[in-house]
Amino acid sequence: MNKLLALIVLVCSGNVIFAQSGMIEPIDTSWKKEYRETATRINNLVHTKLEVKPDFGKSYLYGKAWLTLKPHFYPTDSLTIDAKGMEIKKLALVRNGQHIPLKYTYDDWQLSIKLDKTYIVSESYTIYIDYIAKPDEFEEKYAKDQMLGIKGMYFINPKGEEKDKPTQIWTQGETESSSAWFPTIDKTAQKTTQELTVTVDNKYVTLSNGKLVSQKKNANGTRSDYWKMDLPHSPYLFFLGVGDYAIIKDSWKGKEVNYYVEKEYAPVAKKIFGNTPEMMTFFSKITGVEYPWIKYSQITGRDYVAGAMENTTATIHQESAQQNARELIDGNNWESTIAHELFHQWFGDYVTAESWSNLTLNESFANYSETLWDEYKYGKDAGDAQNYNDMQGYLQSGSQNKDLVRFHYKDKEDMFDAVSYNKGGRILHMLRNQVGDEAFFKAINLYLTTNKFKSAEAHQLRLAFEEVTGRDLNWYFNQWYFGNGNPTVEIDYVYDDAAGKVKVIVKQTQKTNKTFKLPLAVDIYTGSKKVRYNVWSNNIVDTFTFNYTQRPNLVNVDGDKILLWNKKDNKTLDNFIHQYKYAGNYMDRREAIDFASKKQDDSKAAELLKLALTDKYQGLRNFAIGKLDMKNETVKTAVESTLLNLAKTDKYSTVRGNAIKALGDYKKTDYVSLFKLALNDSSYTVAGNALAALSKTDESAALRAAKEMSAKPAKGLLENAITALIAKSGDETMYDKILGDFSKLPLQSKFGAVNNLATYLAALKNTEKFKKGIDELVKFRDDIPDPLKPQTDPYLNGIALKGILASKSEELKIDDNNTDLKEQVNYIKSKLPEEEKKGF
Ligand SMILES: [Zn+2]
Repeated sequence: MNKLLALIVLVCSGNVIFAQSGMIEPIDTSWKKEYRETATRINNLVHTKLEVKPDFGKSYLYGKAWLTLKPHFYPTDSLTIDAKGMEIKKLALVRNGQHIPLKYTYDDWQLSIKLDKTYIVSESYTIYIDYIAKPDEFEEKYAKDQMLGIKGMYFINPKGEEKDKPTQIWTQGETESSSAWFPTIDKTAQKTTQELTVTVDNKYVTLSNGKLVSQKKNANGTRSDYWKMDLPHSPYLFFLGVGDYAIIKDSWKGKEVNYYVEKEYAPVAKKIFGNTPEMMTFFSKITGVEYPWIKYSQITGRDYVAGAMENTTATIHQESAQQNARELIDGNNWESTIAHELFHQWFGDYVTAESWSNLTLNESFANYSETLWDEYKYGKDAGDAQNYNDMQGYLQSGSQNKDLVRFHYKDKEDMFDAVSYNKGGRILHMLRNQVGDEAFFKAINLYLTTNKFKSAEAHQLRLAFEEVTGRDLNWYFNQWYFGNGNPTVEIDYVYDDAAGKVKVIVKQTQKTNKTFKLPLAVDIYTGSKKVRYNVWSNNIVDTFTFNYTQRPNLVNVDGDKILLWNKKDNKTLDNFIHQYKYAGNYMDRREAIDFASKKQDDSKAAELLKLALTDKYQGLRNFAIGKLDMKNETVKTAVESTLLNLAKTDKYSTVRGNAIKALGDYKKTDYVSLFKLALNDSSYTVAGNALAALSKTDESAALRAAKEMSAKPAKGLLENAITALIAKSGDETMYDKILGDFSKLPLQSKFGAVNNLATYLAALKNTEKFKKGIDELVKFRDDIPDPLKPQTDPYLNGIALKGILASKSEELKIDDNNTDLKEQVNYIKSKLPEEEKKGF
């Protein structure tokens, strides 16, 4: 699964999260309260056959289930089945076509069934359950405020009452919610083959796991689609989707590859999902396991509760996956998610984490696939950039106290965090570097083939790596999988020319009593010549001494830039300049740019930044543009011609857009024609930055252009720039548009739009309109699921709403008899919690 909502919140409330980083709590074991034992396997699912029919009027699912099971090992005469919030109409054993009623009890969550006799391990049996699933009622009763929901099946706009929203059904099994739409043993370690027949109105298409074997039209205008999955998989990976979709057909090695999108996105579906077949080839090659399933389909779901989910052969993506042609010019921002969910078809679906405690076996691999894919498809710099971003996601998450594999957690949903995803992905990256590519991919092949169609624990991964490499890897797994935290290091260099020696002092400064064992590749550069020494850091302080005849230009610790750590690297500017030019990795160059950006008064640093503007990797060109100190006249003058050149000619629209943004700081009328021309660029990034740049030189022309452009649909940076200008103007004629656009955004996208809305409301004079606008903002605040509120409320209350209050209060100080202003101030106060009102 890709939990996008949570990630967006982390990004948006960055100030809150950042405040925690660095404060490593040495013995915070508050999460270690309850041991989460892996579920005992008494009976195992063998086969699941379902016949289901949704009722859109009631949001019910009428179902019949035939479950074939057998005892795991010990003989048993009883069976426990997960079945959540269902009405059970009939429950019987099926023998020779006869239904033999069975005794059972039911508590809204589980069926405790007394079998007709004691079964032994070689004996399978089939039970039949006629049921009605009532997912909405179940969730309402037991879990109103849970972030991911537990209802398993989601009816979207089922009665067609919401305009502009299609009617859909999609399911979300992970973690244990499939049992809210069909009875099962809802545990990851269970594996079952599957047949599913769904009957829907003929106007809809359906998607489920496996192959669509047949479609039968019924006399009453409905159609029954029969889906069949011959290979076993876990119940949480079952999927059913229904809706009015365009199905764009693609293929891979004769297997069907389909993209289900809302019809207006049919023309761009291949631009969004079209790299899927190439990914299937790539992932098949590196794992040595050819894509194991019969087909691969991807579908989008309205109001989908996470980023995406890897249901076997039937991945669902949030509607944000659907980007229009103009958005795609700036790059497909969903490509990493597409890779992530596809890699799960091996890591998660083919071999499944035995329990949520071992989630790393699913999510760390899926996360790492994003780096692997970028590296393969777009080059090592792109892969390294992905790796770096994910590493930062973990380092800033404040979750240094948690083990990667952990049998203690409050809620199973807590396992879906920056440790299981981001940190786990980096742990694989380090392991690959340590054992070498050939051994790494051979070991994951051994792991996959040994455990296929079964579940696994992290130890099974260790054993596969030990088998292939012949090395004892307990230390690595104990440190990274079964332990917590990460090293924080400070690196110093002491040169002694007289003795011809350099001392490299590596000091681990993490605030825990734990010392990490770290392999260090130390590269010593003299001119362009590099000599590598491989050493180990095993202590709090390690000193390594290297001889030289000529003082090196650079000593580069962790030469491949692999390690997961926080680092203070006490190199000089000259060292970093050498590193930029000769060490070559993305991180080598990025670190050098970052260092130089803090010393822009130094001409050598400014020179390096200028050089970086033409870096071979566009991500670093963008990074360098963003680091320029445009208040520094020397820097500004030095880079102007390069920026102009980038704005006009760079191959990447994001670089052109960022260069235009920087040119806006020159406030030169010379550039107005360039900006005006760029307003028509097909890239939203270019057009949006051009509008912002124009506003710095000619604000009224920019506002006119913004109003004109607001009549046409715009997204991304262009939409933001248009709204920002109009918001600042407080123009009341634009009220319906500004409010309407905000209210239409999906919850996940609203964060990015809050700032403009707040600016607009602060500038708005009409009290009725102002109040409605505040209501909209408050509604958004309150709609956020409770578990996320501690992260979002400080931003929405403390920055957005309080910012408007501050602005209106200032106005009131000057115009203290203005009754409208008084009413507005009081209204916003009535919406804020007490502690945020202090001082007003
Ligand atoms: Zn995932």
